[in-house]
Amino acid sequence: MANEDECLFCSLIACSKSGKTEFLYKDRFVAAFRDINPKAPHHILIVPLKHISTVNDITDEDALLVGSMVNAARKVAVGLNLKSYRLVLNCGADAGQAVFHIHLHLLGGRSFGWPPG
Ligand code: AMP
Ligand code: ZN
Repeated sequence: MANEDECLFCSLIACSKSGKTEFLYKDRFVAAFRDINPKAPHHILIVPLKHISTVNDITDEDALLVGSMVNAARKVAVGLNLKSYRLVLNCGADAGQAVFHIHLHLLGGRSFGWPPG
């Protein structure tokens, strides 16, 4: 589990101050940027500015932040004119989490099967 000092997404958020990461959206809780390896025509990650490794590490105090992630995804979808899309939040390696700073995937621009693989 990455801590804040060695976390890829914390670095990307810090880099935004120098303009290296292009954000589609940012507020006091979250930032959104395009996934480097997109799985759909639109693949955006909504990432809290605060480092939280996994969903298991969320506390009651983070409720507003966590709600902001979905609300930010909605705003990004509106900006991209997406009416139908999928939101995914992987928790733990067995569920497919590779970056241990929680992030909501917003996937859109194609149809999706169910159940996911
Ligand atoms: P997960 O498997 O849920 O942890 O998702 C991690 C996501 O981060 C993957 O979809 C990666 O393609 C994406 N990713 C990894 N490195 C970067 C990066 N430097 N910039 C943007 N997205 C990244
Ligand atoms: Zn982090």
